Amino acid sequence: MASDNRSESGKNKIPWSGEIVSVQPRIRLLRSFDQRSHSYLGYTLMIEGVVGEEQRSFLVGIGKGAQERNQFQAGDPVSGRSAVVRDPRNEVSEYYQTSELRVVGKGTKAQGSPPPWQGAPPALEVYRQRGHRRLETGTYETKCKVCIWGCRMPVEMIIDQWNPSKKRHRFETFCYGPKSCAFYKAGPTRKVPGRKGMTWEEEDWVDEGAVSHRAMDE
Ligand code: SF4
Repeated sequence: MASDNRSESGKNKIPWSGEIVSVQPRIRLLRSFDQRSHSYLGYTLMIEGVVGEEQRSFLVGIGKGAQERNQFQAGDPVSGRSAVVRDPRNEVSEYYQTSELRVVGKGTKAQGSPPPWQGAPPALEVYRQRGHRRLETGTYETKCKVCIWGCRMPVEMIIDQWNPSKKRHRFETFCYGPKSCAFYKAGPTRKVPGRKGMTWEEEDWVDEGAVSHRAMDE
C-alpha cells in the first residue's frame, strides 16, 4: 500500500535523507527504427537511507543546475523532499521534482582506484561529446551502478514513424567510460521494432562509430 505521504497528484512530497552511493547522468533515449536521439535531463542520485519511513536504497532524479551547484558525489550525506515519478516508463528514478535539496556535509568516502570511476560526474555536455557503447545489463547491475560513466536510460520507441503515437518503452544500459575498462561487456546487440514486424539491429559498428574519436584510455 502507498505511504500516506504519497499523493496521487504527486503534489505532496516525500521527505528523504541518506548517503549518496552513486551519481549517474539522467538521459532519455528516443528511438525510431535506426534513428536515435537523446534528452539530457540531469543526474540520478542513488541514495542509501530513509525515504518516508522506509530504510532502503532509492533513486532521485535531479536537474543539471542542482548538480552544478552542489557537485554531488558518492559519500555525500544529503536530504530533500521529492514527488513520486508519475510515469515510471520515462524515468529510472522513483522520485523527482525535489525541493529543499541539501548536502548536509561533504562525504569523506575514499575513492578507490578505478574501475568503477567515482567522484563528481562531469557536465552533461561531456557525456554528449564522449558518446556511449551498449553495456550488458548484468554487468551494469553488478559492477557499473556506482560508476559515473554508467547510465540506465528509459527508452521510448516509435514503432511507426507515420503514426508516432504507436510507441513502446523499455530500459537500456550504456557505458560512457574508457574503452579499455576491464569491467566492460557489450552483451547482445539491441533490436528495435519497426513497422509491419520489421526489426533494426543495432550492430557493433554503431557503437564503434559513437566512440571512435576517443583513444582506448580516454
Ligand atoms: S564498464 Fe563503463 S560504466 Fe562500467 S565500470 Fe567500466 S567505465 Fe564504468
